[in-house]
Amino acid sequence: MELKPLLRSLVPDQFAALVAEAGVPAYRAQQVQQWAFVQDAMQWDQMGNVPRTLRESLSERYDLAGLALQERQVSSDHTRKFLFRLRDGHTIESVIIPMADHATFCLSTQVGCAMACTFCATARGGLVRNLEAGEIIEQIQRLRTDLKTDPVPGMGDRQFNVVFMGMGEPLDNWEAMEPALQSMMAPDGLGMSKRRIQISTSGPAAGLQRLIASSPGVGLTLSLGGSTDEERHKVMPVPGRTGLKEALGLAADYGRLAGRRVTIAWVLIEGRTDEPEQAERLARLLKGHNFKVNLIPLNPLDDSKLVPTADPAVLGFQKILTEAGVPTFIRASGGRDIDAACGQLRRRRQ
Ligand code: SAH
Repeated sequence: MELKPLLRSLVPDQFAALVAEAGVPAYRAQQVQQWAFVQDAMQWDQMGNVPRTLRESLSERYDLAGLALQERQVSSDHTRKFLFRLRDGHTIESVIIPMADHATFCLSTQVGCAMACTFCATARGGLVRNLEAGEIIEQIQRLRTDLKTDPVPGMGDRQFNVVFMGMGEPLDNWEAMEPALQSMMAPDGLGMSKRRIQISTSGPAAGLQRLIASSPGVGLTLSLGGSTDEERHKVMPVPGRTGLKEALGLAADYGRLAGRRVTIAWVLIEGRTDEPEQAERLARLLKGHNFKVNLIPLNPLDDSKLVPTADPAVLGFQKILTEAGVPTFIRASGGRDIDAACGQLRRRRQ
């Protein structure tokens, strides 16, 4: 089945040409764009001030909605997890993590993932396909609509941050990430500040180089998982093809370019990634770089022998790093009573 492109896969700058083709005045472009990026329209007939003939000619060429809600889970800690069905029947996950003064939206960038990390549920099925830009943007719109219709009790304003820590490797789908970031940050798109956007990557060299070349200014998290090339390769086979020193060097280059401190994400798995020697080697690797470290105790998968590091060892790992001068934080994973680890909900429903 041949699918139409999504209207929201276009960036705001492309809307003028769109209505010009249809032979209508330029101000119509702004109206359509408003519906697309500000009003979060999901049906053409919502566009009340847009002439029907223009709506019809657009709908012949583009689809407005690419996602349908299949399942919504709410955790006792107010984390909300969404399973969305795409037009071709595949499914992706997105998460809302409410904080005191904002919400964090965790988004997917691919259906599945090719990186094959041993601890990750998404990796199990391999890569199915890339998302298109419109499917990335629409996750944000569906999540903010959810927050508007069902506000989280006690949560302050409705500002949100976006982290690309859901399914997929964002730097392996730069083709869609680049326009999606453009629409997110454009004043006549979603109007988001680059300060509120964080890309998380397993750090393939080619992807980091593309990121540097395009230099979007957003935050960067590099998922490491090993303190030597051999260790890392065992846990993260595909990203492990890029040497540790090279990945860290490229991440540091990007950080300097963006003027932002890069975060290193480290999954703590008992007996695999939590040895004190690993913390010491990691501290030496990071020395002299402007990095901080987030330690994430493993969110265990149902079919795996991998176990999360126990709390005392987590604290011990952190202590080694902080005493070596590396700012290190422990990230609790939310939504443990729902399937909140990356890819778990989708896997269970398949
Ligand atoms: N591919 C990108 C983004 C998706 S994974 C990346 O690797 O960064 C986002 C984060 O979730 C990564 O830091 C990854 O190490 C972490 N992660 C994945 N599965 C996990 C699990 N089962 N428990 C804890 N963290 C996990």
